[in-house]
Amino acid sequence: MNKFELLGLEPPIIQAINDLGFTEPSEVQEKSIPLLLQDETDMVALAQTGTGKTAAFGFPLIQKIMPESRTTQAIILSPTRELCLQITKEMQAYSKYVKGLSTVAVYGGASITEQARQLKKGAQIVVATPGRMKDMIGRRLVDISRIDYCILDEADEMLNMGFYEDIRDILSNTPEEKSTWLFSATMPREVAQIAKKFMHKPIEITVGERNVGATTVMHEYYTVTGRDRYPALKRLADANPDIFSVVFCRTKRDTQRVAEKLIEDGYNAGALHGDLSQNQRDLVMGSFRKKQIQMLVATDVAARGIDVEDITHVINYQLPDEIETYTHRSGRTGRAGKSGVSMVILTRSELRRIHAIEKKIKQQFLAKKIPTGMEICEIQLYHLASKIKNTEINEAISPYLPAIHDVLQELDRETLIKKMVAVEFSRFHAYYSKAKDLNTSADSRATSSMEGGKGTTRFFINIGERDGFDWKSLKDFLKSTLDLDRDDIFRVDVKDSFSFFNTNEGVADHVLNVLRDFKHDGRLINVEPSKPESSGRRKKRNKGGKDFPNKKKRNGASTRSKKGKGHRGKRRSGYF
Ligand code: ADP
Ligand code: MG
Repeated sequence: MNKFELLGLEPPIIQAINDLGFTEPSEVQEKSIPLLLQDETDMVALAQTGTGKTAAFGFPLIQKIMPESRTTQAIILSPTRELCLQITKEMQAYSKYVKGLSTVAVYGGASITEQARQLKKGAQIVVATPGRMKDMIGRRLVDISRIDYCILDEADEMLNMGFYEDIRDILSNTPEEKSTWLFSATMPREVAQIAKKFMHKPIEITVGERNVGATTVMHEYYTVTGRDRYPALKRLADANPDIFSVVFCRTKRDTQRVAEKLIEDGYNAGALHGDLSQNQRDLVMGSFRKKQIQMLVATDVAARGIDVEDITHVINYQLPDEIETYTHRSGRTGRAGKSGVSMVILTRSELRRIHAIEKKIKQQFLAKKIPTGMEICEIQLYHLASKIKNTEINEAISPYLPAIHDVLQELDRETLIKKMVAVEFSRFHAYYSKAKDLNTSADSRATSSMEGGKGTTRFFINIGERDGFDWKSLKDFLKSTLDLDRDDIFRVDVKDSFSFFNTNEGVADHVLNVLRDFKHDGRLINVEPSKPESSGRRKKRNKGGKDFPNKKKRNGASTRSKKGKGHRGKRRSGYF
């Protein structure tokens, strides 16, 4: 007897499972399927990303649905549109031999009337993102008043994304007597609260250890200065020629910028973040799935729930604020038993956060060195050689071969190989032969991120409070715009319509270059070094006036600011 049959699954589903090629149930499937089939019960199931949770609820759900009735009998809530579509596809594959069963996906960014039309035809299972589901309930386009099953998939991610209230509102439209199944990779307090509030004595299933990252993932970190993040990223990509990766950035702006730089530098990269239209996001995801994009640069929110197989590397271009988020990120690789690497590019001041993460994931990080230029050249050479060896010959080239033989005939085998490899090698060698070491050593702190002291530059910038900044958000803004480290910008003083900040002298040119012709909210940003300070005054803050590049600007700026405030009324809160 098939192992899935032993769990109580019936022929139509077994047949579909055979088509999918699943031979053995995963642990979470083994534990949950018999329980869910047996009784009407609430359940909380915790298992890491990639352990087959979709089938763990999908198989029993399909067996329990009555396909002869067209009433909506189950809703599956999931955090993102991508995930919603993926679950829908899986449910359709699982139920392909169950006659009359229909699963419809409901998600934002696509025509609501078209989705309503599909629902009207009768869908026993509706897979939805919380926002769109709420919208449809409000417009009476969906009736979930008679459902028997409510599944909250990737519950931790849904709550991370701020869907608590939507979920609560949706559940209030469902009948009291139903079964609620909650599936999640982790069990933060918020998930426990949902379980407590909306579920009745749920059975709890835990696979592996709670909150632990996948063990097939190796964790590595690389220490550089804030300014070297991007070159470090490039080297990591060059040192892994077959990389297929997600690169995580903290803000939409960084995401867009890093992706653009990579594309400019000739990498197959793409950006995925919330400022893109749904159509653009679909295109990017499509190319990534087809591996036309090797490096998908993404924000955490946009990348949530992405299930693309064979991701070789997750690169943390910056560490996330929450450790929990790190687990989600690294969980994108090492799926379905394959191995993967999660790399963190960090600055020395962030090192202690690695220890906090290690504690959480119960795994050690390897402290690695960014490869040197010559190491990369070597890797690329061997890669090229093996690529040549493994290339399948397209016979369409046959007609051209005699002519090519003519051109190359005087070269002996040795020379031919040398020259062939040199073609590619020269490109890397030219770039890397004089490249510096990017790794920060223990004593490099003195030059890279020292506050104050000789060799700092104070800048004037024409944005301030009325542009929604306080010292913290301005620092963040400068940090990400200039790609500097937190410690590289200091003494940020925000006034009403302008501000001041300090950087080390070494990056002064960089500041001026990046911010020249830079627009913020459509306004041209003006940055100038303010008068050099005498060291005795260095510690005094908020003495505004003396910092000004010239007096005229100050007067002009403050007059304008009063007017501006009046126009705008309420201040915008933060930058992002
Ligand atoms: P999770 O929701 O736990 O992150 P998924 O349900 O997305 O994981 O499953 C991860 C991958 O594993 C999917 O590609 C799925 O088709 C596959 N999978 C699920 N169950 C099995 C199984 N029993 N045998 C082989 N592959 C499976
Ligand atoms: Mg899942």
